Amino acid sequence: MLMAEERARVVEYCLRMAAAGLAVGTSGNVSERRGEFVAITPTGVDYARLTPEQVCIVDLGGRPVVEGPAPSSELPMHLAVYRETEAGAVVHTHPPMGTALSTVVDELPGIHYLVMRLGGPVRVAPYARYGSAELAEEAARAMAGRSAVLLRNHGATTHGRTLAEAYDRAELLEWLCGLYHRARLLGDPTILSDAELAEAARALQTYGRPG
Ligand SMILES: [Zn+2]
Repeated sequence: MLMAEERARVVEYCLRMAAAGLAVGTSGNVSERRGEFVAITPTGVDYARLTPEQVCIVDLGGRPVVEGPAPSSELPMHLAVYRETEAGAVVHTHPPMGTALSTVVDELPGIHYLVMRLGGPVRVAPYARYGSAELAEEAARAMAGRSAVLLRNHGATTHGRTLAEAYDRAELLEWLCGLYHRARLLGDPTILSDAELAEAARALQTYGRPG
């Protein structure tokens, strides 16, 4: 089977995403790239019944390479991220905190240094219809210099060198959104300065695992 390992990982991470509550029903989708090809979640298949054979393989222009179910409606957004970045994998979710936050802010501020794991404070891309070329463009633009983006009134997208990394970033983004929500309920959170965030970013690169 073409891209058997990538297809198996797509199934594995769809199940993890659903179990973690990062997407409900058949929403959310993940993809992994190898060379000129992308393995991506099919549209409308219940994750509990998803098999590696049903995972779609398309080329970087979105053309199907194997017969089977149609790819996720967010294929244009996945392809836009691969076009604009060095990403090896993309994860698109509808996380409860991140999606709620996307309706009220223009950016997730840097109130915790781990936001630097995502490249910095996470922007909210303007609203555009799900699955549209416009959403793909806006998401890729708002992701410049970042590995995460919130999509206004819709959800979130992250990328990484591997599917494991892209998925970890989706979980981290949701944790940071939850943290910001709690902080706002308690009062007016302190925002870290650009210098403090830059120093944290250097430390994350130099000292490895954060404390
Ligand atoms: Zn979506």
